[in-house]
Parts: sequence; C-alpha cells; structure tokens
Amino acid sequence: MPSYTAPTRDTRFIVNELLDLASFGNLPGFEMATPDVTDAVIDEGGKFCAQVLAPINQSGDQQGCTRHEDGSVTTPDGFKEAFDQFREAGWGTIAAPEEFGGQGMPHVLGFVMEEFISSANQAFGMYPGLTNGAISALIAKGSQEQKEMYLPKMISNQWTGTMNLTEPHCGTDLGMIRTKAEPQADGSYAITGTKIFISAGEHDLAENIIHLVLAKTPGAPDSTKGISLFVVPKFLLDEDGNPGERNGVMCGSIEHKMGIHANSTCVLNYDGAKGWMVGEENKGLAAMFIMMNAARLGVGIQGLSQAEVAYQNAVAYALDRRQGRALTGPADPQAQADPIFVHPDVRRMLMDAKAFTEGMRALALWGGLLVDLTHKAQTEEERAEADMILGLMTPVIKGYGTDKGYEVATNMQQVFGGHGYIEEWGMSQFVRDARIAQIYEGTNGIQAMDLCGRKLAQNGGAAIQAFFKLVGEDIAAAKGDEVLGPLAESLEKALNEQQAATMWFMQNAMQNPNHLGAGAHHYMHIMGIVVLGLMWLRMARVAQDKLAGSPEDKAFYEAKIGTARYYMDRFVPDAGALRRKLESGADSMMALGEEAFATAA
Ligand SMILES: Cc1cc2nc3c(=O)[nH]c(=O)nc-3n(C[C@H](O)[C@H](O)[C@H](O)COP(=O)(O)OP(=O)(O)OC[C@H]3O[C@@H](n4cnc5c(N)ncnc54)[C@H](O)[C@@H]3O)c2cc1C
Repeated sequence: MPSYTAPTRDTRFIVNELLDLASFGNLPGFEMATPDVTDAVIDEGGKFCAQVLAPINQSGDQQGCTRHEDGSVTTPDGFKEAFDQFREAGWGTIAAPEEFGGQGMPHVLGFVMEEFISSANQAFGMYPGLTNGAISALIAKGSQEQKEMYLPKMISNQWTGTMNLTEPHCGTDLGMIRTKAEPQADGSYAITGTKIFISAGEHDLAENIIHLVLAKTPGAPDSTKGISLFVVPKFLLDEDGNPGERNGVMCGSIEHKMGIHANSTCVLNYDGAKGWMVGEENKGLAAMFIMMNAARLGVGIQGLSQAEVAYQNAVAYALDRRQGRALTGPADPQAQADPIFVHPDVRRMLMDAKAFTEGMRALALWGGLLVDLTHKAQTEEERAEADMILGLMTPVIKGYGTDKGYEVATNMQQVFGGHGYIEEWGMSQFVRDARIAQIYEGTNGIQAMDLCGRKLAQNGGAAIQAFFKLVGEDIAAAKGDEVLGPLAESLEKALNEQQAATMWFMQNAMQNPNHLGAGAHHYMHIMGIVVLGLMWLRMARVAQDKLAGSPEDKAFYEAKIGTARYYMDRFVPDAGALRRKLESGADSMMALGEEAFATAA
C-alpha cells in the first residue's frame, strides 16, 4: 500500500522563510498567522491528512461511489466518518471570512491544506474543494440574504457546494447552454435542464448540497452574454434556515471514469427546481469566473499533490529495490545488486520530480499570498499589482502545474518498473487521478489561450511587463554572487526566451490568430519554466542566507541550492526549444485539409 507523509518541513520553509508570512502581520488576518500558529496548522493539518485521509485513498479508489435507485449516492467506506472529522476539526474554515464563521487566516494556509488533503486523497478533497469555489462566488456576487442563508453552513462544511456549467452538448463553449430559468411569481426561478460531469453532485457526506447553476432566462441572448447564475439547494430551506422539502434536482447517474473514483461525478437532472439568481441577470459567467479562478488554483495544486505523493513513494522504492550495478562500480559490494537509486536515469526522474514539486509548492503558495494581497494589501496600487500578477499566474499554475504534475506522476510510476503498473502499489491511481486535473476547470488548452489570448494583451501588456520587471529585479540582485550568480544567469536565458516569444506573438498573431493558438501551449510552458526558475532563485537565496548562520539542518538548505542548480541545468534549456516551436507558427500545423487525416485502408 502506498504511503504519504505531509512535506511539513518544506512547507514551513516556504511559508516562514521564503514568503515570510509573519512580515505581513499588519494586514488583516495575517496578525493571527504568527509562526507558532502557522507551524501548528501545517503540522496538525499534515497529520490529519496522513492519518485520516491517506488510509482511505486506495480503498476509495477501488470501491468508488454507488448510486441507488432513488438517486441517492453513497461514498466509499470511511468517507463519511473522515468528512465528519474534517468538519469537526474545522479544516475547511481556515481562510474563510470570520464574518460567516471562518477563521479569516491567510489563503496561503488554506492552500497548504489543499495540497496535503489532495495528496492524501484527491477524490475526498474535491468535496470541500468545490464547496470553496461556491463560497467564493457567493461572497463576491451573492446578496446579503443569500450570504447569510448559505455561507455559514457551507464554510463549516455542514453543507457542501457544486458548480454546474457543463451540459452534454457544451463544455468549453458555455454560450451554448440550454438549461432554462423561468421567473416565478415569488421571485424565484424554475430551473430545468441537464447538467453532466458535476463533481460532488450528490453524496451522503453533508446535510445539504448547494448547487450553483448556469442557466438562461427567457429571451436571453443565445451566447455567453445570456447566461445567469442561480443558487439551487438540494433541500429547500425551511423558515429556520434548515434543510426542508426536497428540491427538483436529482442525480440521474454517476460516471464510470479513469480516476478519482471516490468523488461522485454526476449527471444532474433539474426538473423545475427552485433557484434564486445570484448577481445580475446575464452576468452569470463573470460570477462563475470568480468561482472558476479560485477552483483553477486549487486544480493546479492537485497537479502538485499527485506529483508529491507519487514522488515520495518512488523515492522509497528506489532506495529499496535492487537491480544492476552503479555505472561507476558497485555501491554496495556486499549485496547482490545496488539499489536502483544509483542509476542516473532513475535519479533523473527523481530529481525532475524534486525540482518540480518543491518549485511548484513555492509557486502555489506564492499564488495564495497574491490572493490575499489582492484583497488585503495596504494600498490600492499594491492590490492592483497583486491582482495583475495573480491573473497571469492562474492559468500557469493550473495549466503548467497539472501538465508537469501528470508527467511527474507518470515518471514516478516508471521508477517502479512493472510494479508501477500493478494496482497494489498505488502508483497507477496517482497517475489516473492526476490526469483529470489537465482536463477540468477549463482544459489546459483553454488555460493557454486565457494566458496568451487575454492576459498578455490586457491593459496594453501591463501585467506581463510587471512580471518581466519582477523577474529581472531578482536576476539583477543575484548577479555577481558566487552561488546565486550562475543561477541568475541561467534564469535570465529563460526570461530572454519568454520575452522573445512575447515579441513574436506581438508581431505575428494579429495578422494570423492561428499563430497565437498554435503557440499558446508552448508559451504557457515557457512561462512555467521562468516562474518556477524565479522560485528556485529565491529559495536558493534564502538557503544561502541561512547557511551563512550555520543552521542545525544544514543538509536541508544545501539540498535547496543543489536542486536549484539542477533546475537551472535541466528545466531551463527547454524554454529555448519551446520558443523555437512557437516561432514556427501555425503554417505547417494548419496546412493539411480534413481529407489528409482520414486513415487510408
Ligand atoms: C471527472 C470530471 C469532473 C468534472 N467536474 C465538473 C464540474 O464539477 N462542473 C462542471 O460544470 N463541469 C465539470 N466537468 C466538465 C469539464 O470542466 C469539461 O469536461 C471541460 O471543461 C471540457 O469540456 P468538454 O469535455 O465538453 O470538452 P470540449 O469543450 O468538447 O473540448 C474538447 C477539446 O477541444 C478543445 N477545445 C475546445 N474549444 C476550444 C477552443 N476554443 N480553443 C482551443 N481548444 C478548444 C479542448 O481543449 C479539448 O481538448 C468535469 C469533467 C470531468 C471529466
């Protein structure tokens, strides 16, 4: 059976030393996040995930969810008890606003927990994860009455939430939504239609499920401009605000899917269900985007989480499994063979995983800090800057984070050889679970287009220029330093590639938009390489400072600098190849007609 230990030491390093959360103590909510509190959250949260959630991950995968004839769904054995413990411990409340019963602490700590939960049990994590997305949308767009009705019980996880966008004929292109919302005399709407692939759509973990649903009112424009958002509870609330009469939304079936078997992915049939509009009519997509942006960061963290747990298991296996001899001569002459850890090809995969997971953790938690600064930074200028950078980072964290997360999980499976393919070892589950993160919350192709088609050009390119400045400043500050200088010079090469790729888009994408579409994926990966490089440069700087003080855990800091070097040697050069691909444009990609794709007998 696979194992999981929360990476608490590395997380404390990022939270306390790299991001230095305590230095933001003058901002609301941060004053509570003193190092002793953050350490307690990290340690206790890590223990909870390792001891309660990880042990039911593999059994949950094997058992899956069950739909009964009456449309109810039961989650696998142990899930309800674990969710009760999760709720009672208040793990879902960390970053939620105090006004509605949350702890009001920084999102950075909420993101820490998201990683641990998801590594321990990704399918479990989606029940509170979707709830968090629904909470964000209600906070931003709900009326005061809606907030008071739903938020306290969703934040406490007595109730969970869902997001309902997808329909059988429309996934990416939400303008084609057919679900109808008919206004009723009492101010509510009757919602009718079919939604598919709804995560956590029906289950036995909570007293009520609050569905946020995209639908169209009569006569609304037949495009994304005609979509409104509705809140539709599974049980209508009685006069005391408690679940009462059953609403007209039922689970028609649950999908049989490649992974995350313990999360119920439902077809939900809405048959005149009572719903209430959230925010303004025809402005539903904008409201849903608030939810999706929060969820996209969470999905990026899922990529990290599966890479991390797969990596931990692969390291243990590589140290234990003995095959062949080290190329440089036997490492353990007394034994019949050396551990596979000695082979450079195995080490390549493990170092790739280490460099990615630690770098990605730093990026994801920096993303959490940007979420906080967007709302809480002292000046309007600082809030706007954080918002701008976060907007750029969101598709990169989601798209690059899950593409690489999946790649790493697959490589960790490779470390196990044939045993990685056998279910018993658990590596197959990590790969299967990681795969979905590249698909939902907007496929990674759509993330790349969001980055290149929208974010790069926004406000005359102000965001990307601010990002270039940020990276450039860190590079300049490190240059000339014996240890950091060479790292900075490598990062500068990747930054130059990104700047050149940006320029190429500016010069070519207007005349042929296919050039943008053809290069967007590559651009997102170049940017991923640059921003993870920035994280590694910053981590190496902190490690170097610590080493100057002869710390107790010297090996930890030395490994940071060693891994930063590996990152610059082995990740950064890909930026050049990606840029060359991008600059080849769309011509050869789009040249062949449909007939050329037909298979000739
Ligand atoms: C397990 C699971 C859980 C899910 N959970 C939820 C949920 O909770 N709520 C919910 O509403 N939905 C959910 N989804 C749906 C998910 O978000 C969609 O599957 C996803 O957005 C893609 O939509 P689609 O499947 O219709 O693919 P399509 O939109 O048909 O896309 C097919 C392919 O075409 C590409 N493509 C489409 N349009 C463009 C374009 N304009 N430019 C470039 N490429 C394009 C896509 O990238 C993709 O590769 C879930 C799906 C799964 C499998």
